[in-house]
Amino acid sequence: MKAAAFAYARATSVGDALELLEAHGDGAKVLSGGQSLMPAMNLRLISPQFIVDIGEIAELRGIAVTGDVVRIGALTRHADLLRSSDIAAHVPLLTEAIAHVAHPAIRNRGTIGGSLAHADPASELPACMVALNATIVIRSKAGERRVAAEDFFKGIYETVLSARELLVAVEIPAAGKNSVHFFHEFARRLGDYAIVGLAAQATVEGNGFADLRLAFFALGERPILAKAAGRLVKTAITPAILSEAMAALDQELDPQDDQQASASMRRHLAKVLLRRCTATLLVRPELNAGAPA
Ligand SMILES: Cc1cc2nc3c(=O)[nH]c(=O)nc-3n(C[C@H](O)[C@H](O)[C@H](O)COP(=O)(O)OP(=O)(O)OC[C@H]3O[C@@H](n4cnc5c(N)ncnc54)[C@H](O)[C@@H]3O)c2cc1C
Repeated sequence: MKAAAFAYARATSVGDALELLEAHGDGAKVLSGGQSLMPAMNLRLISPQFIVDIGEIAELRGIAVTGDVVRIGALTRHADLLRSSDIAAHVPLLTEAIAHVAHPAIRNRGTIGGSLAHADPASELPACMVALNATIVIRSKAGERRVAAEDFFKGIYETVLSARELLVAVEIPAAGKNSVHFFHEFARRLGDYAIVGLAAQATVEGNGFADLRLAFFALGERPILAKAAGRLVKTAITPAILSEAMAALDQELDPQDDQQASASMRRHLAKVLLRRCTATLLVRPELNAGAPA
């Protein structure tokens, strides 16, 4: 199938893109790498009347480290993030996660802004942004607003972005001295969307966690910042405490059945990930001993 007819304009600057979005309102869609938008249009899942192509706006591309903040322009491609030594040094969770986003051909075109605006609940990068406590920078003709990642994702393919707004960048706190991270997803094949995944960022102090952010994905309509993490922070972690945290996690999840997995399998895998994550980050393999693989 081919996309329905649409009008097209290539924006030359952020200002130009915002003018076009303002003029065309709800009938317009932003085009970045096209790796999600074009398949959806070709399948006629959506039929926008007007496409605003932002792909050539250089000011939206690139990675800058300023003090302890890493700013990534919306048009920065997955492949650029994967290769970036700045990202590897300051946001290693992202380097690890991006290797699981689709395949090289898609990573060569797909962008971080497109992935976040698309807001697929099984997607890796939205969960990473939540785990990393990132700020999403949004611009419209009315000005700029900044939204915490955990408030940005609203539902399946739904964010706080309006049709007249552009996601321009993300800002991520750089990993500190005692920062550690964990990323794992269960997928049928490398490059497939996750059945269940976990992106986690923590600060270790002594034998425990001073801070722990657990962002689960493919378990609900948007990334889930697990409150159960609170059970594991500023406390000595014993098998009993870990079991309590797993029970608390089970309580707060409400996964659904789909063709990939049943809800109960998803619950089980989420708890497996919590156990593995804790054991890995604290370098306490005994916490994972005896657990099902
Ligand atoms: C075969 C295949 C496998 C895939 N596997 C995975 C996977 O495992 N994990 C994963 O996360 N993704 C996967 N994807 C999806 C894809 O990698 C991302 O969704 C894609 O990279 C999005 O970026 P893009 O630049 O291509 O966005 P586009 O397709 O251009 O846009 C996506 C959506 O975001 C909006 N948008 C884009 N940029 C902006 C912006 N700056 N401001 C406001 N709105 C914007 C568009 O209007 C559109 O609604 C896969 C895709 C394919 C085709």
